Amino acid sequence: MRKTLLITGASRGIGAATALLAGKRGYNICVNYLSNSEAASQIVNQIKTDGGHAVAYQADVSKEAEVLSLFQKIDRDFGPINALVNNAGILETQSRVDQMDLERLMRIFNKNVVSAFLCTREAIKRMSTRYGGSGGAIVNVSSIAARTGSPNEYVDYAMSKGAIDTFTIGLAKELAAEGIRVNGVRPGFIYTDIHADGGEPNRVDRIKETLPMQRGGQPEEVANAILWLLSEESSFSTGSFIEVTGGR
Ligand code: NAP
Repeated sequence: MRKTLLITGASRGIGAATALLAGKRGYNICVNYLSNSEAASQIVNQIKTDGGHAVAYQADVSKEAEVLSLFQKIDRDFGPINALVNNAGILETQSRVDQMDLERLMRIFNKNVVSAFLCTREAIKRMSTRYGGSGGAIVNVSSIAARTGSPNEYVDYAMSKGAIDTFTIGLAKELAAEGIRVNGVRPGFIYTDIHADGGEPNRVDRIKETLPMQRGGQPEEVANAILWLLSEESSFSTGSFIEVTGGR
């Protein structure tokens, strides 16, 4: 039987690449997006062209009511999910901490941390053997920023990814005996639209020469790590992280 996978922020970037790859691996794909319905439709259509099953779901996953409604719609369309990728996330303009206001910090934590908390809570209720579920796998998309701290650029973002790492470690232990594995990926500099949101669309090209592999990464390279962590090939791994950083 096909497993059902919800990927938050799957209309573009790493989430979209993960959706396309997971579609080829036989999952039913729930393609969540915030506002870009055209991009989400393109991903759904491509998955269907490749022979897979997918539905697009608009929801701001940082808002509790929208997450509850999202899971109800997925229950209706596919039944309880078996896998979750907490991928949706944002950056704001490069800035020092002394120039950041509280509203910005709250936006970053809402979009990057609260979203993962809300989706995970709903996923547990459907996947945990404690609730009669059949288990599952969760992958949280963190960042190398959790380790480097992103000074002079996005310390707020790095803090939020540190929270995601701690969430991953705690959840993995809390859920290990209930059939749910929880792991993380920490991408480095990957070619996606997110850098434009930070005010520097060509950021990866500026930095790539300083990386050990001397190149930026592709979203598909992160997707491969995510799919491995979702799969039974990683059946004895929980609370672990894969860095996809070209050696940084
Ligand atoms: P991206 O290309 O900017 O795509 C962001 C995706 O998230 C879009 O599909 C967007 O939907 C969706 N989204 C944003 N806020 C949302 C919300 N509140 N609810 C639902 N969907 C939302 O980003 P990306 O670079 O692929 O990043 C994906 C993840 O990887 C993020 O967690 C990011 O922090 C992490 N990461 C990225 C890099 C990198 O270099 N790219 C490095 C390390 C970590 P719309 O299309 O509707 O706007």
